[in-house]
Amino acid sequence: TDAHLAAIEAARVLNAYVLETPEQARNMAKAADDRIAKGEAGPLEGLPLGIKDLFATKGVRTTACSKILDGFTPPYESTVTSQLWRDGAVLLGKLNNDEFAMGSSNETSCFGPVVNPWRRDGSDTKLVPGGSSGGSASAVAAGLCLGATATDTGGSIRQPAAFTGTVGIKPTYGRCSRWGIVAFASSLDQAGPIARTVRDSAILLRSMAGHDPKDTTSVDRAVPDYESAVGRSVKGMKIGIPKEYRIDGMPAEIEALWKQGADWLKAAGAELVEVSLPHTKYALPAYYIVAPAEASSNLARYDGVRYGARVNGRNITEMYENTRAQGFGAEVRRRIMIGTYVLSAGYYDAYYLRAQKVRTLIKRDFEDCFAQGVSAILTPATPSAAFGIGEKGGADPVEMYLNDIFTVTVNMAGLPGIAVPAGKDAQGLPLGLQLIGRPFDEETLFSLGEVIE
Ligand code: GLN
Repeated sequence: TDAHLAAIEAARVLNAYVLETPEQARNMAKAADDRIAKGEAGPLEGLPLGIKDLFATKGVRTTACSKILDGFTPPYESTVTSQLWRDGAVLLGKLNNDEFAMGSSNETSCFGPVVNPWRRDGSDTKLVPGGSSGGSASAVAAGLCLGATATDTGGSIRQPAAFTGTVGIKPTYGRCSRWGIVAFASSLDQAGPIARTVRDSAILLRSMAGHDPKDTTSVDRAVPDYESAVGRSVKGMKIGIPKEYRIDGMPAEIEALWKQGADWLKAAGAELVEVSLPHTKYALPAYYIVAPAEASSNLARYDGVRYGARVNGRNITEMYENTRAQGFGAEVRRRIMIGTYVLSAGYYDAYYLRAQKVRTLIKRDFEDCFAQGVSAILTPATPSAAFGIGEKGGADPVEMYLNDIFTVTVNMAGLPGIAVPAGKDAQGLPLGLQLIGRPFDEETLFSLGEVIE
């Protein structure tokens, strides 16, 4: 814990932490030492972790990196983090993220952008760590924690993991409780870990997962010992390569990485088969209807009355307007406007309802594929390596949304997906591959992921 606290202090330029909790960390580490001495160590005893600022932490400021939650200190603890503390983990502090987890570069945070510890060979250009869990990914990659919590609504665990050479798994929808996690799009949001290795992520997920009566969408199923899946043989497994993911203009190095990953799995005894997920091309547009729709509804609660910041006005309506206009950043306001539009009378059928139907088709594509005996699907995690801060999405938000092209289908279908580091681009930056699994079969992803990493 002391070593990590010192590392955090020395790496403040990365802006990975938005709040450091050294006193609490030392107390928790001391309590862990005592339990170890008494032979009562939990599975994560004494392991120092960073927590994405989207998870409510009791008595510790939680803002979702939005000005509208300025000064909010929750009187309760999220289920996921309470399970980590139950198992002995230590809180180092709260990690930066895109405001309300909306973004793919961690540039929308009210605390400013996070810097990726990686640089292009021979260049000083500061790169994004990906988003929205950019603080988590950057902190893990730079050794500012042993592991971190993250959340994934459309790729926010897997894309930053790929950009920083770390491992990120988004479990099946319902695997982890969403209770106490600031809601973005409730039917898509899932928590998961970002860690340095597949084994570390398996160990962390076991503590994070499990049924919680406080989240009606969390599933009552035993949590397997994920770590025992690491190193398990993948011989005879059928792995799908979806032809629709071979998008126009895919960089040759991404194509080569994908082929390399397939070859590694083949060498480990898996059988590679081409599969088709015909509705893939509709996933991104449908996601950017469903996610903003749910966000506009979830964000209605920030009214200046019950939480965080308030900007007064001459009457209550003006107070709402002032609070929301000044409290929400540009990307969040854009999502609220899109969401409100697609849900409004006259447009609901044309946009929201249509997007939900597309979502069903996307889910069926995967079901058909798994019905053919496919154990998992291998794809690139991102269409490129990390890009420069300020380089994308300025004039055209859609340019940023395109980052999520390989990851959103997994959330739309509620499936588990893991991103594992698989190689480097020509400039020395990490690149990741993604494995998509059957519902609640995270174990297969850990077994396959370990072959690739
Ligand atoms: N980049 C996507 C978005 O902005 C996904 C974000 C996420 O997974 N939280 O919506």
